[in-house]
Amino acid sequence: MNGNTLVMKFGGTSVGSAEAMAQAVEIVRQARQEWPRVVVVTSALSGVTNLLLDSASQAAAGNAQRFIGGAAELKALHTSIAEKLIAEAAAQAQMRSEINLLVSEFTNLCHAINVLGEATPRALDAVASLGERMSIRLLAAALESQGVASRAIESTLFVITDNRFQSAHPNIEETNLRTRQLLNPLLDQGIVPVSSGFIGATREGITTTLGRGGSDYSAALIGAALPADDVWIWTDVDGVMTADPRMVPGAHTISQLSYREVAELAYFGAKVLHPKSIRPVVEAGIGLRVCNTFNPNHPGTRIYTEVNHLEAGKIKAVTTIRKQVLVTIEGRGMLGVPGVAARAFAAVAATHTSVPLITQASSEQSICFAVPSESAKQVLDSLRSTFSLELASQDIDSISAGEEVEIITTVGAGMRATPGVAGRIFSILGANQVNVIAIAQGSSEVSISLVVDARDAKAAVAALHQLITDDLPA
Ligand code: ASP
Ligand code: MG
Repeated sequence: MNGNTLVMKFGGTSVGSAEAMAQAVEIVRQARQEWPRVVVVTSALSGVTNLLLDSASQAAAGNAQRFIGGAAELKALHTSIAEKLIAEAAAQAQMRSEINLLVSEFTNLCHAINVLGEATPRALDAVASLGERMSIRLLAAALESQGVASRAIESTLFVITDNRFQSAHPNIEETNLRTRQLLNPLLDQGIVPVSSGFIGATREGITTTLGRGGSDYSAALIGAALPADDVWIWTDVDGVMTADPRMVPGAHTISQLSYREVAELAYFGAKVLHPKSIRPVVEAGIGLRVCNTFNPNHPGTRIYTEVNHLEAGKIKAVTTIRKQVLVTIEGRGMLGVPGVAARAFAAVAATHTSVPLITQASSEQSICFAVPSESAKQVLDSLRSTFSLELASQDIDSISAGEEVEIITTVGAGMRATPGVAGRIFSILGANQVNVIAIAQGSSEVSISLVVDARDAKAAVAALHQLITDDLPA
C-alpha cells in the first residue's frame, strides 16, 4: 500500500520538549519500517525562532541583556533535551559542543548587531536560521540513539533562493537538482536525512529564510524535488478541523480536503498549512497528510487533488479572521468614474496593509473593504490624503471605518455549482439573529465570506457549524 519515499515534517511543538521529540523519533522509527526512503524536515524547537529574532531586534535597539539571557536559554533548552535523548556519552559530548558552537555564533551575531545598532534582513536571517541548525542536529542524534541511521543536513546546501531575505523565493530548478544530488545518495544507503525547514541560501551561499512558518513550504519543496510519494505534516492537532475548537465545542477533524479547499482555509486564517506549501505538492501530484504527533494513530486529514463528487453541496469548514474593520468610501460623485477603486487600493497598499475582503455595490456609490483594526487609522489617513480633492468637492462624501467586525468564511469545493448553499447559510444566520453586514463569494466558488459584528461572531460560527453535518468522526 505504501509507496517508496515519504517526507515527514515536524513542527516546533513536535520537537519542543524531550517528550515531544522522543515521540517524533518513535514516529520516524516506525515509518522507516514501512517506507524504504524517509526524509525528515524539522522546524526549530517551539519558541526558539521568536527568541532568536527578538534577541536580535533588542540588540539592534541597544539592549544586550536580551541576547545574553537568550544564549543561556538556548543552551539550557537544547542541552537538556540532548541529555535525555542521547544515550551514548560520546555522542552526547559531541552534541554539547555543536550546541555551544551554534550558541556562540548567535552571541557573536547579536553582538555585531548591537555594535552596529542595526539588524538588516540579511543579519536577521542568519540569526533566525540558528534554530533549525540546532534542531536538525538534535533530532538526528536522537534518532541515531534509537538505532535509526540518520544524518543532519542543512537545507542551505540545496534549497537555493533569491536574496529577498526574510521571504526568499526558491529557484525551483536548481533546488530540485541539488535536493536530488544531496539526498538521494543518503536515501540509497538507507539513511534518514534530517533537514532544516525554513532556511535556504542564495547561489553564493548566503543564508536566507522562506518566511515565518516556512517549514511546511520546505517540506513541500523537498517532496516535490525528489519526488516523494507522500508528504506528512506532523503538528499538534488531529489534522485540519471544521472550526477552531476553542470557538466551537463540536469542531472535529475533516478527513478529506481538496487542495483548493485547504488553500482557501489557509488564506482565511486557519493555521493549518503554510499557504505556499500547497502548490509544489499539487503540481507534482504528491499526497499530503496533516497529522498529530501527540495522537499518531489518528488518521488526520488527507488532502487530495480532486474533490470527491459525492461531496456536492458540502460545507467542510468555518473559519474566521478576527479584529477587522470595514472601510467604506461613499459618494454619488463616484458613479461611473473610472479609477476610483484603483486609486483607493493603491492608497491602501502604500500602507503595506493587505485586504482580505472587498465588496462594491453595483450602484457604484460605495466601495467597502476589510482591513485589520490595527491598520485602520493609517489606511484612513492614506485614503483621505489620496482623495483630498474629491472630498473637498464632495464627489466623495465620506471615507470611514466602522466598528470591529470578523470575517467568517465557509469553505467547501462542493458549494460550487450547487444551488441553495448560500440560502442555507443566510437562513441559519437569520434564525440565530445574526446580522450580516457584507458578503463576498470567492471567485473560485470554494468559499463564501460574510462580515458580522465582532459581538455576533461566536454565535455565527456556531450556527454555521451546524451545517457541517457529514464527515463526523467514525
Ligand atoms: N521556525 C520557523 C518559524 O517559527 C519556521 C517554522 O516553524 O515553520 O517561523
Ligand atoms: Mg508551522
